[in-house]
Amino acid sequence: MSKQTLSFQAEVAQLLHLVTHSLYSNQEIFLRELISNASDACDKLRFEALNNNALYEDAPNLEVRVSFDKDARTLTIQDNGIGMSAQEAIDHLGTIAKSGTKDFMGKLTGDQKQDAQLIGQFGVGFYSGFIVADKITVESRRAGLKADEGVRWVSGGAGDFEVETITRPARGTSVILHLRDDADEYLSAWKLKSVIGKYSDHISLPILMEKEEWKDGELINPGDENGGRQPGGMVKTGEWETVNKASALWTRPKKDITEEQYAEFYKTISHDHEAPLTWAHNRVEGNTEYTQLLYIPAKAPFDLWNRDKKAGVKLYVKRVFIMDDAEALMPSYLRFVKGVIDSADLPLNVSRELLQESRDVRAIREGSTKRVLSMLEDLAKHDKHEATAGDDGVTDVVDADDKAKEGKYTAFYAEFGAVLKEGLGEDFGNRERLAKLLRFASTASDSVSVGFADYKARMKEGQEAIYYITADSLAAAKNSPQLEVFKKKGIEVLLMTDRVDEWALNYLHDFDGTPLQSVAKGAVDLGKLQDEAEKKAAEEAAEAFKPVLAKLKEALKDKAEDVRVTTRLVDSPACLVVQDDGMSTQLARMLKQAGQ
Ligand code: ADP
Ligand code: MG
Repeated sequence: MSKQTLSFQAEVAQLLHLVTHSLYSNQEIFLRELISNASDACDKLRFEALNNNALYEDAPNLEVRVSFDKDARTLTIQDNGIGMSAQEAIDHLGTIAKSGTKDFMGKLTGDQKQDAQLIGQFGVGFYSGFIVADKITVESRRAGLKADEGVRWVSGGAGDFEVETITRPARGTSVILHLRDDADEYLSAWKLKSVIGKYSDHISLPILMEKEEWKDGELINPGDENGGRQPGGMVKTGEWETVNKASALWTRPKKDITEEQYAEFYKTISHDHEAPLTWAHNRVEGNTEYTQLLYIPAKAPFDLWNRDKKAGVKLYVKRVFIMDDAEALMPSYLRFVKGVIDSADLPLNVSRELLQESRDVRAIREGSTKRVLSMLEDLAKHDKHEATAGDDGVTDVVDADDKAKEGKYTAFYAEFGAVLKEGLGEDFGNRERLAKLLRFASTASDSVSVGFADYKARMKEGQEAIYYITADSLAAAKNSPQLEVFKKKGIEVLLMTDRVDEWALNYLHDFDGTPLQSVAKGAVDLGKLQDEAEKKAAEEAAEAFKPVLAKLKEALKDKAEDVRVTTRLVDSPACLVVQDDGMSTQLARMLKQAGQ
């Protein structure tokens, strides 16, 4: 292919403008993005080579080399991964395949720090090179293609790019950044090493840089004032050294990993800029053996509600990346979990489709689900940690570890509680454990902190059901006339205001043997909570109002199934309820909104 000039897809051009203009204060992330692309490319090669060993050609050691040329003012990131064909370079570096890009544009806030975080989440990583470069040259050859089927791609980051065929014996990709005038600092080994250390220590691939050593300036005129020497400087030695730790973090023993390293690794795999809320790192032994390192984020991502989104749990087999398929490794209601699972048992060279159906993968998914639930149970248990006087009358010393967990469950629940509830309908096996993890506001607590167990512990003598009401908002729930009799009798009612509550509660009929009852459904039988006099008065009223009811029923015959005398109201004259087995008004409204 002779040289041709092509235009960027409109979105790319727009994106480039944003990237170069809004991410200026967080320049250094470009290196993280380019190294992560190099690492992805090596993962892809490893995966393809499982079925075609010849792809390794004569370079089986996968690596990334970072080098710079002060005179030419270039910085080069080179990998020997899968590489790109000419068409792939055009497709992958000229268009944005991902549907999320429009969202991305909309999410940019103008706050540079926040926007920089979004870049990673959306995978517009390559273009971040233009933050520091006014021209980028990419030279690549795809593994398996001939040396003369290489490609050169060049762009100044404005409207278009050039591509041409080149001869490139080395497999893989070189990204050559022609640095802007004000990006001088990246022409320093020290600076580059420090950025690599910050972002890429946990990349399992070695990142190499050429060693430099100090060389005195040459002696030319011994007589003059500086001893006749020219100034000395660092010179390249031709020897390359690994500058990152290059060990897959999850394979190291727990005791050798610091909290900071765990947090940094989380940031690398999640593209989150905040530290995680908590994590679990375990070797699971038994029929299926694997290592799991699972994180719970502190903050929900912007696309939490997109159920198609790629999940954050990656599957490795003996450190070879296999897939990051959501459903196979984590149920959808735990889609916020990030992490790595590395199995020694799975066959390496099977298709993704087969893997998803494998018994071992199912076992891993079940084991990981249980692990996440126990992490949450542990947080819930320590959410309100108070030093309590034990049987011996001595106040417990609050364990520092436990203390650190205080308030974390509340924080977790505020971000992810609504997603967790989806589990009631999705994961029958764990329904009871999930039910214990749910929290609601109630007529006794404005904060979303009441669990079913707390509620049960406070139930009135003779109360036989857990009462709840669903509504659009806390205010609507609290002021519902359906609560009148409960207020009067001092019976606590759970107030459910998440959109998913109604649907989720369909799957939960009781908690620990106590039935759940919506106060908006049916006749609300307060059973033993009513005294004899009240029952008698109700019966008499029902009798006395019979003729009125008959008239009302006739008048409302197309609109209401039934009209009856109720004991649930105290101040209001009438209210609407649905039948016991009926769809609640809330759910009906939701379905209507959804166009059903
Ligand atoms: P993402 O990495 O999220 O896919 P990027 O903008 O970082 O998005 O990269 C776009 C695409 O360009 C990648 O998906 C990949 O196909 C291709 N690409 C980028 N860098 C390399 C590389 N070093 N080797 C091979 N392909 C690459
Ligand atoms: Mg990328």
